[in-house]
Amino acid sequence: GDAGVLENLVANTAYLKAQQMDRSELRRRRLSLSLPKPKSLRSQDAVVKQYESLCEQQPIGKRLFHQFLTSDPKYMAAARFLEELKDWHYAEGVSRNFTQKKIINMFSQAGSRSFLSFLTGNGAEALENLSEDNFEEVIGTIKEATTEFLKGKPFLEYLESPFYYKFLQWKEYEKQNISDKYFYEFRILGKGGFGEVCAVQVKHTGQMYACKKLHKRCLKKKGGEQLVLLEKHILEKVNSPFIVNLAYAYENKTHLCLVIDLMNGGDLKFHIYDLGSRGLRMDRIVYYSAQITCGLLHLHSMDITYRDMKPENVLLDSKGQCCLSDLGLAVELPNGKTVCQKAGTIGYMAPEILKQEYYRTSVDWWALGCSIYEMVAARLPFKDFREKVQTSELTRRTLEDNVKFEHKNFNEPTKDIITRFLKKKTDYRLGCNRTGDDPRKHAFFKNINFHRLEVGLVEPPWVPKSNVVYVKDMSDFKDISEEEDVNLDAKDEKFFKEFSTGAVPIRWQKEMIDTGVFDDLNCFQINGHGYETAKS
Ligand code: ADP
Ligand code: MG
Ligand code: MG
Repeated sequence: GDAGVLENLVANTAYLKAQQMDRSELRRRRLSLSLPKPKSLRSQDAVVKQYESLCEQQPIGKRLFHQFLTSDPKYMAAARFLEELKDWHYAEGVSRNFTQKKIINMFSQAGSRSFLSFLTGNGAEALENLSEDNFEEVIGTIKEATTEFLKGKPFLEYLESPFYYKFLQWKEYEKQNISDKYFYEFRILGKGGFGEVCAVQVKHTGQMYACKKLHKRCLKKKGGEQLVLLEKHILEKVNSPFIVNLAYAYENKTHLCLVIDLMNGGDLKFHIYDLGSRGLRMDRIVYYSAQITCGLLHLHSMDITYRDMKPENVLLDSKGQCCLSDLGLAVELPNGKTVCQKAGTIGYMAPEILKQEYYRTSVDWWALGCSIYEMVAARLPFKDFREKVQTSELTRRTLEDNVKFEHKNFNEPTKDIITRFLKKKTDYRLGCNRTGDDPRKHAFFKNINFHRLEVGLVEPPWVPKSNVVYVKDMSDFKDISEEEDVNLDAKDEKFFKEFSTGAVPIRWQKEMIDTGVFDDLNCFQINGHGYETAKS
């Protein structure tokens, strides 16, 4: 009725407005914010002093280490060299040549101010011989030698510097307790097996997220605790721009909450079927498939099989880039382990699953083949759109039939990559051979520069409109499930506590940087611990 339409409009307006909040309003909200002191030496010990984690993986750590290096003339050249090298790595065409020349002039000439004079042995030799002809072969050695150098004395000095003290303050802040009060809540975005997913916003940073709420009693009744813990564990472990990030895990009285990157551009199924013309434009299909491929390769590199690859589980962000989401079926298979459990969605399941054979990551490539087919033809390889077909018949077709390409939009490279992903025998399937057949090298992806794609430098072919909510109306989510009549005991409470680990470091630190909180709070002051004010 009218009330429903109005309710939907109001909810959408609030949701869209939150996403366009201006900087000054945010500044006002966090005027009173300040960094805590690290608690005693014990908390310092809790931060494992590993170079990779402290200076490369954690975004705030990386920033502060860089600030430390550039504040010291001895280490300035090394810091600038690594920066320039990064630019070169992602540059294309003329600008790649230009950066290459610049690197040679700046860092390899003994007379230059930024000469890498600290290098010895192999590194120094490589630097001396560096030229435009051997650049690609030699530069790796120089980079490694530079990193080795930084891991030594500079790193130890950093650990004694005010920059590292600042890092410990941020780590202390990161450990704060998270509750409902930390967020504003907006409209519902979807419904899952254990509760709803809502849009939320962190009050003091303005960062938007999706909050997947898991009803505690419902979890217990359905025996979903271990599954949810596994989903959380895998979400926490992965770190790829093509897989949704977990930012916080916390609890309130009734729910466990997983706070995940907000994907406000809708899922690919919605884009294939619900926006007028069926199917997607080829440039979009190639782009999404490339990002999905990177996401799958990331999972597989960690011995994780996704098992639920399908357009419905691929969500678009506000820029039009896509991510894999819903890792509830993902399984860890370390040390060559295999499983034979039947899992996945009907229509996307590989022959080896249907035959209940042992499998590993091969099933994801099959499902990607099905998904590319669906993006082109708006139907599955073995099931027409809205066709009612029995599971046994679908299984038979999957095991026996050859895939047909009747839709006019299939071109040669697309047919070829799909055919290779849909090989019934995993030995012949693209992505599954031990001889390292890399799907990224297929002609279907010839226009994609994967280096640039990985760091978000390839423009998305389609961008969601900022004034559109790519979600079904509120009224479509109305059927609220009833309270479950189970009692929670001490054991359950213990489980909920263990689940509620608060902020996830890498994602949280990224939020602090992206929203400007890091810059706002990072000015160096005399801090009562005997440190000098750092040069700004
Ligand atoms: P379940 O594992 O219970 O199926 P999902 O993780 O698939 O739960 O989430 C349920 C629905 O919520 C999804 O189908 C999607 O519509 C929506 N949703 C989930 N995660 C996000 C997100 N990060 N951003 C936007 N919407 C989301
Ligand atoms: Mg789901
Ligand atoms: Mg799930």
